[in-house]
Amino acid sequence: MFADLFFNKTPVHTRDIQLFNTESKRKEIFKPLNQKEVKMYSCGPTVYDYAHIGNLRSYVFADIVKRVLIRNGYPVKHTINLTDFGHLTSDGDEGEDKMMKGLKREGLEINLDSMRQLSDRYIKAFEDDVEELRILPPDTWARASDYIKKQINLIKTLDEKGFTYETSDGLYFDISKFPKYGRLGNIDLDKLKSGARVEVNKEKKHPADFAIWKKGDLGWNSQWGKGFPGWHIECSAMAMDTLGKQIDIHTGGEDHVPIHHNAEIAQSEAVTGKCFSKYWLHNAFITIDSTKVAKSLGNSITLQHLRDRGFSGDDYRYWLLTAHYRSQVNFTWEALKAAKQALFRLKRIMYEDFGQKTATPSAQHLDAFDDRLADDFDTPGAIAIMWDMLKDDTLDDKTKCGTLFAMDEILDIGLSDQLDEGTRSLGVVDVDDIPEEVQTLIDEREVARIARNWDRADILRDQIKLKGYELEDTAHGPKVTKV
Ligand code: AMP
Ligand code: ZN
Repeated sequence: MFADLFFNKTPVHTRDIQLFNTESKRKEIFKPLNQKEVKMYSCGPTVYDYAHIGNLRSYVFADIVKRVLIRNGYPVKHTINLTDFGHLTSDGDEGEDKMMKGLKREGLEINLDSMRQLSDRYIKAFEDDVEELRILPPDTWARASDYIKKQINLIKTLDEKGFTYETSDGLYFDISKFPKYGRLGNIDLDKLKSGARVEVNKEKKHPADFAIWKKGDLGWNSQWGKGFPGWHIECSAMAMDTLGKQIDIHTGGEDHVPIHHNAEIAQSEAVTGKCFSKYWLHNAFITIDSTKVAKSLGNSITLQHLRDRGFSGDDYRYWLLTAHYRSQVNFTWEALKAAKQALFRLKRIMYEDFGQKTATPSAQHLDAFDDRLADDFDTPGAIAIMWDMLKDDTLDDKTKCGTLFAMDEILDIGLSDQLDEGTRSLGVVDVDDIPEEVQTLIDEREVARIARNWDRADILRDQIKLKGYELEDTAHGPKVTKV
């Protein structure tokens, strides 16, 4: 699963990679800052609660970006941050601190120790999600509270260079001192000012000025009083500390474009005088009933909710990859079920039809697959090519199997799992033609079994038996034989 592992397995197919840069609003050919390694930073989760399936899209997307770069010969150095303080419920300077919300929700005392304790729990949960979704771990997990000193140093430099002003509640970045503010998404600053509702903080000179230090009873000591760094500064500090003053690629969800990423650019470039990130990549949102998934809206589904209904990380990953990362997609259980069934079939083909016996991949199909991915990470296009390849009568099974293996190095949906290892590869059967109606019952029983709904699972097993098939549970999922 790790980068160096799949590096060795498949020959490098170097090709131009086109990526859609939010800053230029067009596809650009990727040219790294240096050939040695691509520096990539992804805005990480605020760890006050479980990540929801929308958040997880951001990291599956970043994972695909990374794999495609590596496949095409670019080693990647990657940082994901973990926000464990200071992110308010709005992305600006208003609302409650999310960590405080978490502390109150869990009846914990309001102090730095319990904040650490709370974030420990949700960092662990997030790392489990990352593993379940087969996302390659970054080189650095940068935890914001471990970088307080670096953040304070950065704020000091901004202060010394005259980019700030102090108010009764904190230190603010003065966007009038940074004329290029608002490049991402072409923010109209005049309109923002004239259209601003009554500012909650009347001491702010412009509505887009943002806090880089927030004074408060809780936090760390600094020359601006006790408190904590504003949310945006952590990403500038940790990106620069772990990757350097200039990075190649910065990723995040599209909600970060107007405020958080414009703030990151302003802070970083005000300090260094250099372009902070060459490419800005943003994934669109996952919605439910056409409303964004958000904890505050009470519609946040987590990976655990998916598991409770019998869906694995692979099912969700496959479903995500069937849509382009820049398209908003509406989550439905029916759509996820369809994805699960498609993946179930793929695994059957791999394990049962091909027995994982492999030969050199078909260069033609693999090239077409890699071309799709190199065109702004077109995963649905790549998946379509995978299914087409399976229908190609001119290929023998071993070649198809080898091609699937090579494709799975990017998709990583469990097709390469060893038969005698792990439990992720659900759906192993040893009969060739299972009628559709029996297949549906098997899928439904698998859902019931994983949800530990034993009564329903037993009923479904009996129904399957009545149709002439015997089901046996194995570490890899149900094994089906003809009675
Ligand atoms: P947060 O924990 O709010 O900082 O979010 C973590 C990541 O998830 C960020 O990159 C967000 O932009 C992204 N994100 C939040 N909600 C969604 C959603 N509904 N769909 C896709 N990405 C999201
Ligand atoms: Zn960030």
